Amino acid sequence: MRRRVILLGPPGSGKGTIAARLQENFGFNHVSSGQLLRREVELDSAVGRRAKSFLDRGELVPDQTVLELMERWMDAMPPGTGFLSDGFPRTLSQARALDEWLASRGQAIDAVLFFNCPEAVMIERIAGRRVCPQCGRVYHQVTLQSRVAGRCDECGVALVQREDDTAPVVRKRFEIYSRQTEPLVAYYRAQGKLTEIDATRPLDAQMDDVMSALAK
Ligand code: ADP
Repeated sequence: MRRRVILLGPPGSGKGTIAARLQENFGFNHVSSGQLLRREVELDSAVGRRAKSFLDRGELVPDQTVLELMERWMDAMPPGTGFLSDGFPRTLSQARALDEWLASRGQAIDAVLFFNCPEAVMIERIAGRRVCPQCGRVYHQVTLQSRVAGRCDECGVALVQREDDTAPVVRKRFEIYSRQTEPLVAYYRAQGKLTEIDATRPLDAQMDDVMSALAK
């Protein structure tokens, strides 16, 4: 099973949900850069203070801040442990920095899963998306409801809509995705590491595709 895996895809493509399933069922070490950043903001740490205004506007947090956070996260893992990274890298310079950082430890990315989905579908998903402010678990008002309406299945706390999930901020996040993150598709395809997943298919079918890509 491939253990150093990147999940790539536009906002709302469902990669966070897939990542949570992989973590639950197969013990993957899931990391979401967005979740780590939001936690730093809540803690009002130095990184959080630098990141907050970018998060609120739906813009990318500067590479240096994100790299500092992600390298800290990876360094804290026991040696040889893999990861499933959702939301990082998000720019070519982050991808190059990650490759160099891994190479300096004799490691490399094993696989990149690209979740492809038309924009209209993603916008629909984001509009109904609700998250647990405590554990970060993601739900959807129509397609992925919690057992008790409006409450997290794990924590029981009230679900919220992320501040950057409102329509104008979502539009901006899409623009930024096309300009800054989409080039990573070609970058990893050229390395022979990319598998494209049709993110409009039902979750179980996507999981099958993901598992066969990771077993290769
Ligand atoms: P989504 O995938 O739905 O856009 P995330 O939780 O991955 O949501 O990211 C939310 C926000 O966190 C982004 O809009 C951006 O401000 C910031 N962020 C997350 N990851 C990165 C990254 N690798 N580089 C820069 N900013 C990031």
